[in-house]
Amino acid sequence: MTEQPAPALTEPGEPLPRAARRLLLVHAHPDDESINNGATMARYAAEGARVTLVTCTLGERGEVVPPELAHLSGAALGQWRLSELTAAMRALGVTDFRLLGGAGRYGDSGMMGLPDNEDPHCFWRADVDEAAGHLVPVILETRPQVLVTYDDNGGYGHPDHIQAHRVAMRAARLAAEAGWTIPRIYWNRVPRPVAEAAFDRLAGDLPGLPFGRSAAVDDVPGVVGEEQVTAAIDGTAYAAAKAAAMRAHATQIEVAEPYFALSNELAQPLFTTEYYELVHGERAHGPEADGPEGARFETDLFAGIPAESSAASAAGGPAGLSAGSPAGSSVGRPADGPAGGSTGNSPGGSAEDSAGTPSGKGRAS
Ligand SMILES: [Zn+2]
Repeated sequence: MTEQPAPALTEPGEPLPRAARRLLLVHAHPDDESINNGATMARYAAEGARVTLVTCTLGERGEVVPPELAHLSGAALGQWRLSELTAAMRALGVTDFRLLGGAGRYGDSGMMGLPDNEDPHCFWRADVDEAAGHLVPVILETRPQVLVTYDDNGGYGHPDHIQAHRVAMRAARLAAEAGWTIPRIYWNRVPRPVAEAAFDRLAGDLPGLPFGRSAAVDDVPGVVGEEQVTAAIDGTAYAAAKAAAMRAHATQIEVAEPYFALSNELAQPLFTTEYYELVHGERAHGPEADGPEGARFETDLFAGIPAESSAASAAGGPAGLSAGSPAGSSVGRPADGPAGGSTGNSPGGSAEDSAGTPSGKGRAS
């Protein structure tokens, strides 16, 4: 755990010091963080940022890839996946990872359309305000300048990913009302031309890979037109860490760099540059927004966020507003210990306008 320095009193406009950067990621299952953001997490952790991961379920309904682990299911698989998550976080250098509401509070909902979706314990059936009520204290405690989650379709329509999006966005609003406004919110993206080029390379490499067939561009979550993408985080230097983190999720992923496959055994690219769409907050201007391809993408999720004023620092306070309610999170620190199972029971937040009932349909992949 990086020790948080006392907030510095600096002039407005001064860049945020690296050690004062705080990144929060909200994901549905163990493995999603490594697949989507592994390079980003490793890079910011290495640069001294506080990186906090909140995972909403233990992925107890995930299909198990290795035959020798095929006996794992339900709660036993969930515990196994927690140990995989712990190993993945060690690979990425991330020490602060938590489970929404504590380990096992929300169950994996399974793929969209399955009877699993009806289980009252599953995350898809969770009340969004109540679930967000477990995340708000984490936001008030860690005071992130950047939140990363999925788009409103969860990237590809999985109910737990959609729900993670809803809960993250709701919690950001509730936290703002309670004293900490997250300056920037990003959704995970992949620019379609980038995905297409990667799949073209994959087609050529496929005969040498341990995977029989290739996935398709549209199997990749979050693929959108390039114009919709605002940031590209070059994690090339952290490619090995990302691959190691993905390998740690051995029940779910088989890695053959620079490719991997999920339980469907369809090869897909392992992206070491990770892409984002800014959906809340202002894009950076000036030299720090310039990437290798010109100023098309920001190259730093924190670009343009000024050093914190004394007012902003005071707003969160050391304990935030979480003092009266349980943190609602199982905390996976230090990284070498399995996450504990404190089960919070925070009150639900106030009503607001975003969708709160499970609905919609998506495809399972
Ligand atoms: Zn997932």
